[in-house]
Amino acid sequence: MKIFCIGRNYLNHAKELNNSVPTEPVVFLKPDTALLRNNDPFYLPDFSDEIHHEIELVVKINKVGKHIAKEFAHRYYNEIGLGVDFTARDLQAKLKEKGLPWEKAKAFDFSAPISTNFINKEDLELENLNFSLEINNKIVQNGNTADMIFKIDELIEHISKFFTLKIGDLIYTGTPAGVGKIEIGDHLQGFINEKIMLDFLIK
Ligand code: ZN
Repeated sequence: MKIFCIGRNYLNHAKELNNSVPTEPVVFLKPDTALLRNNDPFYLPDFSDEIHHEIELVVKINKVGKHIAKEFAHRYYNEIGLGVDFTARDLQAKLKEKGLPWEKAKAFDFSAPISTNFINKEDLELENLNFSLEINNKIVQNGNTADMIFKIDELIEHISKFFTLKIGDLIYTGTPAGVGKIEIGDHLQGFINEKIMLDFLIK
């Protein structure tokens, strides 16, 4: 399976990192070894002094497809979950400066916590869906799909021009503003609306 991630898909986040607003989706991938499941703890890696949290809605693909028009994209997913796109921001800054690929900063082991539960999209208002991240019981990121630059169906159209989508592939759809550094001992809890989806510790 493949894990697609979308960069800079919320205006307020693109601005907080002084990135330009993209005219097409920024796409990168993580390998399946990036997944962190079952609310297992995340251990800070020794190659970075600045791991940032990025809370993101995650779309699970349930049908094989390529060149999917956005009008038909809704047929390719049923469920929405929640994930974190952990980013070694210090390493990413160095790589970006040199024009090098981001993988070491983005796709390392366990850099993609994923919720155990997914919610059927019929039970959600996809165009106006709230999600948030709390650290130590304080809200640090709060997003709504209404603020996505590229909507889920547009992301699927774009990604599937380049990559065949397969059953079980995941799309991390981008993070809203409020990204920041995690520390040992932090308690992360992620929510879709009021429902708790992620609950794990940083060690
Ligand atoms: Zn991200």
